[in-house]
Amino acid sequence: MIIRQFIQKVCFTSSFTVRTSSLTTSKSGLMAFALLALASIGSASVALPALAQADTPSTLAISDSDLDLYRTHVSTLASDKFEGRGPLSAGETLTVNYLVEAYKALGLKPAFGDSYTQPVPLAKITPSSDMALTLGQHTFAGGSAFTARTQRIVKDITLKNSDVIFVGYGINAPEYNWNDYAGLDVKGKTVVMLVNDPGFASKDPDLFQGNAMTYYGRWTYKYEEAARQGAEAVFIVHETMPAGYGWGVVENSNSNTKFTLVDNNKNLSQVGVMGWLHLNTARTVFEQAGLDYAALKEQASTPGFKPIPMKVKASLTFSNTITHAQSLNVAAILPGASAADEWVMLHAHWDHLGKSEKNGKTVIYNGAVDNASGVAGVLTLANNLVAQSEQTPFERTLMFSAFTAEETGLLGADHFAKNPPIPTANMVAFLNIDGMNVNNAVDYILQYGEGYSSLEDDLSATAAAQGRSVKLDPRPQNGLFFRSDHFALARQGVPSLLFMSLGDTDPNFIANRYHKADDDYLPSWTLGGVQQDLALIGTMMSNLANGQQWPVWKRDSDFKKKRLIDRPEAPAAGLVETAAETAESEAPKQ
Ligand SMILES: [Zn+2]
Repeated sequence: MIIRQFIQKVCFTSSFTVRTSSLTTSKSGLMAFALLALASIGSASVALPALAQADTPSTLAISDSDLDLYRTHVSTLASDKFEGRGPLSAGETLTVNYLVEAYKALGLKPAFGDSYTQPVPLAKITPSSDMALTLGQHTFAGGSAFTARTQRIVKDITLKNSDVIFVGYGINAPEYNWNDYAGLDVKGKTVVMLVNDPGFASKDPDLFQGNAMTYYGRWTYKYEEAARQGAEAVFIVHETMPAGYGWGVVENSNSNTKFTLVDNNKNLSQVGVMGWLHLNTARTVFEQAGLDYAALKEQASTPGFKPIPMKVKASLTFSNTITHAQSLNVAAILPGASAADEWVMLHAHWDHLGKSEKNGKTVIYNGAVDNASGVAGVLTLANNLVAQSEQTPFERTLMFSAFTAEETGLLGADHFAKNPPIPTANMVAFLNIDGMNVNNAVDYILQYGEGYSSLEDDLSATAAAQGRSVKLDPRPQNGLFFRSDHFALARQGVPSLLFMSLGDTDPNFIANRYHKADDDYLPSWTLGGVQQDLALIGTMMSNLANGQQWPVWKRDSDFKKKRLIDRPEAPAAGLVETAAETAESEAPKQ
């Protein structure tokens, strides 16, 4: 049950104490309740009815009752009852119903015509578990030595005596003057490649983007490009440092059931085999082929690298169990007063890993931080902003969304972005929360990627109004900008921003709880980080919804190209782009 919150607009000083405030209530009848609640906060520094100082940037306030509401949402969504919110499970039904009821209770309108939900057609593919890969004279066991799966909607995958070619990083990037496939015909062949990109490998800041991963470094890109080149099978050589995760993650993520979207051609334009090789497997095969893996790896990050036919053949057979089902995206809108067709969007993926059986016991992956914390944040801000709009309606429409199947490859977001309820040209901005800081407040906010869009400037300004600074993602090599739902919208040109504090303030989180059964809700969470981050995000939403600006992409990229097709009139003025910036641009293929 949602209880409308009263809100207060306040100014933050650098120490986050309330200096002055003006109080509005969601309903005048709630005034008495609001005053009572305010008194119970016991903040002596709150003066009524004072006005915010005009010369001090104000940020939205997140009250203690907002945090109570947040705690209810996050603890419910992360409870065992919701079974880890696996797509197509009983947990999905509970989660989707919970969200729809919450939106309805707030008086929000459906985002998809007369529906709060958008069907997302998924195929569920489980490859046979006993596969073996023959490379030259050696045969390797699936799971420990390699992984292979497909997204093609076919029963059997057969690779027989396929030529194997080492293609370096498997990158075709005209803007970096780099093509690992130059002059090469890989039709029907098997390509072996390295993970990440030459910039990371060489640590050369002038190569790609140095240590920061570009989209060319992501495995998703590598499979996409190999398919465009006509390759039949891809094997990426796993190394922990450049991948950003150990072999266990590769094995877990690729050996079990995976979901995929299905195109009109049963995904046949994708590669037949999406594979990974354990480093030891790769070394064995290179050695057998008379090749020096370490030396070739070195060469592969040097301009002018030429692909190497490996003089071994690859054979592999596996079968797939495929079922089709529909999952659901959920979204609701608060229509704007004067520009209802311009949408400002706030989002968090609702899905997590569900549950599984291990040694006869049921293990539930509750995903409390990832991403019950984000969904609770969206619901809490929706409540807060609806109350605010009852005093002064927003000019533009606000959308609040939760998509499915993020964990299996941004599938719900991808489907939404390609089948949007309004043209992508009308989407002002897409803010995505994936994992909140449930612990104490901090004096910074993390930014993922640098120089992408003007939303980064809005982020700095709003953080500064809170006395906080922007800190760049400390692990740029992991390419997190490409790994959450906003990226699907960015690829359709919509300026987008990721809020992910997941694990940043808790050194044990990534090691012990991230994507593990221990990502649980704890009553001891202080929610100081949630309070400051929701204030920041709500302020950005509010400013975008009452402003007339259209955030723009900065560096040249395929995001920017798509946006300029959508909105050719989008102002380039004020954006001074140097030739150097253009040259170092990062353009994901397609
Ligand atoms: Zn997540």
